[in-house]
Amino acid sequence: MADTIELEIVTPERLVVKDKAEEIQIPGRNGYLGILPGHAPLITELAVGEITYVNAGVSTSLSVAWGFAEVLADKVTIIAEAAERAEDIDVPRAEAARERAQEQLKKAEDAAQFDEAYLAIARADARLAVAKKQ
Ligand code: ATP
Repeated sequence: MADTIELEIVTPERLVVKDKAEEIQIPGRNGYLGILPGHAPLITELAVGEITYVNAGVSTSLSVAWGFAEVLADKVTIIAEAAERAEDIDVPRAEAARERAQEQLKKAEDAAQFDEAYLAIARADARLAVAKKQ
């Protein structure tokens, strides 16, 4: 069995990552999923959070929001609505998005408005956490 996995992360806009990994962590809908070479095949929905992978001992993190991951024994394909490498994250934009969402959260009048604001905060927090790891 190979000791690395191919990793591809794509968004509607671009190919964000094409690399090899010894291990990958992805935010599935039901929590984080750790993937090593030879993992059983699966398809999972993605939540908002961080993707972390290790290649040649070097760890790389990206922020991700929504989408799907297909896991095969030797390849993981992630089709995300949004995914950003640490160096591509605009920190002031994420801070501004977080502040706006906090205001919306205070004014939320129903569950849908609450969810929208809460998830916008989660996206901003994931971006800010990944940007800090640069
Ligand atoms: P904003 O209100 O700042 O647009 P958002 O959370 O609503 O934030 P998304 O809908 O998740 O943004 O993403 C829309 C697009 O903008 C995606 O392509 C995403 O990669 C990009 N994007 C959003 N925020 C940032 C950021 N802080 N830095 C870099 N790219 C970002």
